[in-house]
Amino acid sequence: MKITTEQFIKEFKRRLTDEYALDVKDATKEELYRTLAAVVKSGYFDIWRKSKNSFDQDQKKQVYYFSIEFLPGQLLKSNLLNMGWYTLVKKAFQELGLDLDEIAQVEPDMALGNGGLGRLASAFMDSSASLALPVNGNGIRYKYGLFKQKFVDGYQVELANAWLDQNNVWEVARPSKAVKVHFGGQVYLKEGADGTLEPVYENDKVILAVPYDTGIVGYKNRHVNTMRLWDAQIPAEEEINFPTIESRRRVEDLTSVLYPDDSNEAGKFFRLNQEYFFVSAGMQSIIRHYKQVHLSLLDLSQYVSVHINDTHPAMCVAELMRILLDDEKLSWEDAWKQTVQVMSYTNHTIMAEALEKWPLYMLEKVQPRLVQIIQEIDRRYALELEAKGQSQLLASTRPVKDNMIYMANLAIIGSHSVNGVAKLHTELLKQDVLKDFYTLYPERFNNKTNGITVRRWLEIANPSLTKTIDRVIGTKWHYDAKELHKLASHVSDKRLVDAIGQVKYQNKVRFAKYVKATMGLEISPKAIFDVQVKRLHAYKRQLLNLLRIIQLYLNLKQNPALDIYPRVFIFGAKAAPSYHYAKSIIKCINEVADLINHDDSLNDKLKVVFVEDYRVSLAEKIIPAADVSEQISTATKEASGTSNMKLMLNGALTVATLDGANIEIKDRVGEDNIFIFGLQKEEVLDYEQNHGYHSADYYQNDPAIHRVLDALVDGSIPHIQAEGREIFDSLVRANDEYFVLRDFEDYLRAQNEVDQLYRNQTQWNKKCLINIANAGYFSSDDTIRNYAEDIWQVTPTVSENGKVSAEDARYPL
Ligand SMILES: *Cc1c(COP(=O)(O)O)cnc(C)c1O
Repeated sequence: MKITTEQFIKEFKRRLTDEYALDVKDATKEELYRTLAAVVKSGYFDIWRKSKNSFDQDQKKQVYYFSIEFLPGQLLKSNLLNMGWYTLVKKAFQELGLDLDEIAQVEPDMALGNGGLGRLASAFMDSSASLALPVNGNGIRYKYGLFKQKFVDGYQVELANAWLDQNNVWEVARPSKAVKVHFGGQVYLKEGADGTLEPVYENDKVILAVPYDTGIVGYKNRHVNTMRLWDAQIPAEEEINFPTIESRRRVEDLTSVLYPDDSNEAGKFFRLNQEYFFVSAGMQSIIRHYKQVHLSLLDLSQYVSVHINDTHPAMCVAELMRILLDDEKLSWEDAWKQTVQVMSYTNHTIMAEALEKWPLYMLEKVQPRLVQIIQEIDRRYALELEAKGQSQLLASTRPVKDNMIYMANLAIIGSHSVNGVAKLHTELLKQDVLKDFYTLYPERFNNKTNGITVRRWLEIANPSLTKTIDRVIGTKWHYDAKELHKLASHVSDKRLVDAIGQVKYQNKVRFAKYVKATMGLEISPKAIFDVQVKRLHAYKRQLLNLLRIIQLYLNLKQNPALDIYPRVFIFGAKAAPSYHYAKSIIKCINEVADLINHDDSLNDKLKVVFVEDYRVSLAEKIIPAADVSEQISTATKEASGTSNMKLMLNGALTVATLDGANIEIKDRVGEDNIFIFGLQKEEVLDYEQNHGYHSADYYQNDPAIHRVLDALVDGSIPHIQAEGREIFDSLVRANDEYFVLRDFEDYLRAQNEVDQLYRNQTQWNKKCLINIANAGYFSSDDTIRNYAEDIWQVTPTVSENGKVSAEDARYPL
C-alpha cells in the first residue's frame, strides 16, 4: 500500500482547494501548513480510532501517565516521520516548489511545560506509541503556554504565549466525554439506610472538565495513542452559580496559565486547584471508562496503571480512594489494596525546596473530602508502623505533619513503585532523602534512567548526520537505537570520521546563519561551539561557565597574543519570572556578551550568543551544531539531565561533573571520551553535612578567582552594578551554596583539555563518533520498555498485520 508522490500531491491540492479555494502558488505558509496537517490527520485518524477500540476489545491493561507538564514541541515533522511519510512529502513539496522545513516552522511549539520534566513526559508519549504500548497521557490544556522570553537591555522580559490563538490543528475537543469536578464547600458523613457512612456535600461548586485529545503517532507501526488534556469550563446548568465576570474568570483561569516555576514549589493556592482539577477529571474518566468494559472494581489493578510524574499529581492516591469508597462503595481495605497496586510514582528531584507540601487548610478549601481521606490514610499508616514496631520512622514518613500534607510521602505510601531518574539519583533517594521509606519498603524502589527520543533529536533535527550514519550501518537504529553501537567498530574508518566532522561543520554554518539573521551577530563556524542549554538555575551553574568566560576575556585583554582556540559560547535558558538570582545571571551573561562581541581587539577569539526564548524547536537547531556540551551542575543536584543525552547523540563532547546521567554517559563512552571535573557526590555531601566549605577563602587565596570576581563589581563589565554585586555576595559572603569557586580551577583544567584536543580534528571527531555510537543507550524507547515491564506490567498491542512493531508499516493516505 505504498503511496506515491503523485497521489500525495493530488490529495494535497484537492484539500487546498476544498479548504481555501486556492492554488499552491497563491497560498500562504500558514494555509499550506494547515492543509498539510489536514492530510496528515486523515492518514492516522482511522488508525487512532482502531487503536483505542483494540484496547477494550482485547481487554488490555492501560496506563495513564499523569503529568502537570507536557512539552511536545512541534508535531508536524514528527508525525510525518512516524507515519513513514517524511521523505515522500519532502520530495513532493520540492516538486511543488515548496520547502517543507519553512512550512513546518509556522507551527507554534506546544510549550505546556517548563523543561526537562515536561519534555520527558512527551518523549515517553512518543516511545510508548512507537512500541505499541497502551499508554495515555493525562494533563492540562493551558491556554497560555510557557512565557515567551525576550531580552530588553539584557534583562529577561516575559511575554504571554497565546499559542491557541492560531488554533491547534492536532487536538480534538470531546465535550461528550466531559466530567464534573467538585470544588470547595463543606462535607460531612451521614449514616445511610444500610448503616454505611455517606459523604454529604454542601455549597460546593461544580466545574466542567472538557477533554481535548491529541493522537500520538507510533513510529511506522500503525499504532496511535492519546494524550488527553483538560480544559475548565462552566457547566450549562451551573451558570447561575457564577453570576459575576470575576467568578467566571476564576474558572477559566484554572486552565489558563502554566506555572513557570521550574522546580521551586509554586506555593500558590491556584496551583493546588489546578492539581486537583486534572487529577479528579482524569481519575473520574478512567473509572467511568473502566466500568464500561469491566465488571468488578476489585480487578481494577489488573487493567489499570496510573503513573504519578513528580508530586503534582500525588492527589491521585486520595482521589481514587474517594471514588472507590464514596461512589463505588468499596471497603477501605479493598479500595486501598487496589489503589496501591494501581499507582506508581517517579521522583524527579532531591532539592528540598522543590518537594511539595501544602497546608491542610488550603486543601480543605479545594476539596474537604480529600482532607478527610488523607487524614485517614495518615492515621492508618501510623497504626501500620506501630504494628510493625517501626514507629520511630513515622515522623519522617507520614503524609500529614504539623498541619501540612507532604505530597511525596502521600505518593510513596500510596504506590507500589517509586523510581528515581538516574542511577546516582536513585541511590541518593535510597541512602539519603527517602532513606526511611527505603527501610520500610525496599521492594518499591527502582531506577529508571531518563531517555530521549532519538528519532526527533537525530532524524528530524540532524538529517545530514542521519544520512551519514545510514550509509554505514543501515537504518535498523531508527527502530532500535542501540544499533547505533555498530558505529563503534568504524572508528578507524578515516572517511567516516572526516564525514562526521564535515556534517558538524555544515550544521554550524546553518546555525551561524540563523544567529546572523535573528541577532545580527557574526560567528565563525570554525570556532568551537560551546553549548549550555537548559533552564537557568543556580544548581545548573551557568555562573561557573560565565566566570570562565570573564577570565578568558581578562586574559585576552592582558595578552592579546594568548594562544586560545576560538570559541563561541552559546546559551539558551529561561528563568522563572520570580527567580531573582537566576534573572541576575541572565543579565550578567548578556552584558558580558555585549562587551565581548563588540570588542574588536579580541580578534574573534571569543563570542557569546545568548539566544532568546529557548524551546524545543530552537533546541533542534542548536544541538546539531554543538561541539561541546556543558553539563556542569553541582554533583548530587541534577537528578538526570537529558540535554546531556541529546547533545552526545549529535556528536558533541561533554564537559561534565559526576552528576545525574553524566555518570552513565561516562560509563558508556569511557573516561577518554568525556571531560570530567569537579567535586564528587561524597565530597559534596561531606561539605554539606560538616559545614567544611568556606568560599571566602577561595576569593582571598586564589588570585585568579579574586580577579574574576572583582570584575563583577569594579565596573570592568558595564551595566551590572546591582546584579554583579548580588552574584559576588552569593559567592563570597553567602558561602557559595553550589561550590562554584571550589570547582572553578578544575573546570578550567577540563576546558583547557578541550582546547588542546580540538586542534587535532581527527582525534576529536573519533571521540564524537564514539559518543554517537553510545548514545543509543539513552533512547526513551528502552526507558519506557523498562517502565512497561517492571512497573506497569503492560505489553504491546498487536498491530493490524499481526506484528507487534511492523517493519516500515507506513500509514495509508
Ligand atoms: C531537553 C530539554 C530540556 C532539559 O534539559 P536539561 O539539560 O536536562 O535540564 C529543557 N528544555 C528543553 C526545550 C529541552 O529540549
